[in-house]
Amino acid sequence: MKNKLISIICPCYNEEQVLGLFAKRITAILESTNRTYEIIFVNDGSKDNTLAKAKYLQKSNPNICVVNLSRNFGKEAALTAGLDISTGEVVIPIDADLQDPPELILEFLKEWEKGYDVVLAKRVDRSSDSWAKKKSAELFYKIHNMMAHVDIPENVGDYRLMTRRVVNAIQELPENQRFMKGIFSWVGFKTSVIEYKRESRQAGHTSFNGWKLWNFALDGITGFSTAPLRIWLYIGALISASAFIYGSVIFFKTIIQGVDVPGYASMFTSILFLGGIQLIGIGVIGEYVGRMYMEAKRRPVYIIDEVSNPAVEEARDSND
Ligand code: UDP
Ligand code: MG
Repeated sequence: MKNKLISIICPCYNEEQVLGLFAKRITAILESTNRTYEIIFVNDGSKDNTLAKAKYLQKSNPNICVVNLSRNFGKEAALTAGLDISTGEVVIPIDADLQDPPELILEFLKEWEKGYDVVLAKRVDRSSDSWAKKKSAELFYKIHNMMAHVDIPENVGDYRLMTRRVVNAIQELPENQRFMKGIFSWVGFKTSVIEYKRESRQAGHTSFNGWKLWNFALDGITGFSTAPLRIWLYIGALISASAFIYGSVIFFKTIIQGVDVPGYASMFTSILFLGGIQLIGIGVIGEYVGRMYMEAKRRPVYIIDEVSNPAVEEARDSND
């Protein structure tokens, strides 16, 4: 079967309200490029009628492929499923909520024609996000890029263009805890960046609240850096050195001024301080052990319930 040129991957979780609008806008853009394309809707265990809606849209456009995961696996897994199924020469992951303007695809293609393997879309204006979300994102990029060997470009989401060889490289990464932003950056390749203004969600609700984002950030940092483990070496060294200096001070003070018994407060504080520091250290090690445990199980990243792809079915029928 002839490979499609452009594969759009759209992970959907409870997006029934916006899916029709999304399909309309993106189809118009894709048709205008005069290239063959496929739109892969990955239904990530939605609790509403997203699946039915996607199948309905498929009826009027055979370039739509609907992948239904067996339950909600999370956006990273849904994206991975989409990448695995895609056949295009270039692959573009995009959110269903129209926060990533489909019109940008035309610019992506222009950059790709110049010879870039990756074209990133950088948000120059995040005014559609809340103050807390903007600040926490800023802090996350700062901490992550300080610790990890490979920087994640700031304010760049999953919306991007990748060529087939980049997708192949991503598929080589065997980990099943997939922090896609990190994975995308890790594989490298010649990259171009274009800027855009992020819109606000057209309908439905965000599924990333504070706690989920915090865990997402932890996944990102622990997945791509061992600095949080190594830092304990230096914290330990610093505390030991201060203890040695403080011990020497007490020693000489005792020789000169005699025994000084009071010290209840300082002793109690240092016990609590050291206890706290040790527990944090154990917590960090625990975080990594937990990740190793999950990774050691070698479970699949996602499970597919069903794929309905009219193009493939058509080809199969004509081969029979
Ligand atoms: N999404 C998903 N699985 C999830 C959560 C979200 O596939 O468990 C999809 C969602 O349908 C959307 C994209 O990931 O297409 C981004 O989600 P959302 O808009 O909620 O995140 P935000 O833009 O607020 O970061
Ligand atoms: Mg969104």
